[in-house]
Amino acid sequence: MKRPLIVGNWKMHKTIREATTLVNIIKAGVHKMTDCDVVVCPPFTALAAVAMLLEGSKIELGAQDMYSEPEGAFTGEISPLMLKDVSCRYVILGHSERRQTFGETNERIHTKVAAALKYNLLPILCVGETLQEREARKAFEVVKEQFDHCLGNLIAQEMERVVLAYEPVWAIGTGRTATPDQAEQMHSYLRRLLNEKYSSTIAERVKILYGGSVKPDNMAQLMAKPNVEGALVGGASIKAESFIQIVAHARTTNMPTAFKR
Ligand code: PEP
Repeated sequence: MKRPLIVGNWKMHKTIREATTLVNIIKAGVHKMTDCDVVVCPPFTALAAVAMLLEGSKIELGAQDMYSEPEGAFTGEISPLMLKDVSCRYVILGHSERRQTFGETNERIHTKVAAALKYNLLPILCVGETLQEREARKAFEVVKEQFDHCLGNLIAQEMERVVLAYEPVWAIGTGRTATPDQAEQMHSYLRRLLNEKYSSTIAERVKILYGGSVKPDNMAQLMAKPNVEGALVGGASIKAESFIQIVAHARTTNMPTAFKR
């Protein structure tokens, strides 16, 4: 059985006080759901406070981005060592909002993925096409290019610590979710790419999440697809009740990962 992984991306929301309230409710709500991994990614300013509240809980902490250097004259940036220092285990990299609003390239993202691994953080690498690219029937080509360039020359032992998140840009924050079939198609394509670039073992081990307007009422259908192993959740992760329900739905519909060699 696949073990679901649900990641909440709080984006640029929540003061420290609000984050504290949110995480306390989530903590209580998912406490007994031991068959699912849960990660929350608050903004940088709330990481330390949330980390303290998560001590001894099943929920793990992630950051939403980082720079690739351990320290130095990089005004405004946060380093992998700083994320480790506040107990982060995961870091989201290559989110479409970073690509689109801040001009991050696949090459830049690769440098960050490599740095995250070097400093023992688990990267959640986001890939996904825009609506224009999908309509031009270029979704698979674009995702392959992101996959190739963002992963670059990572070796197998590094790759097995990466989580992939397929996030079609047209589904992020729009209320328009990819259909379970569309998600499954891209997820199985990513698994095929992993098999070609690495091995069937890596293709089976790497977790592939779906992201894009995930809500309690569409989680179960998405999770019912064999290659969807969890979700990266934006808007619905900053409402405690909906995030808790998403975790609950992910657990009840898990099934074997279907990778055919
Ligand atoms: C995201 O930010 O990664 C995301 C998927 O957002 P939303 O769930 O709001 O579409």
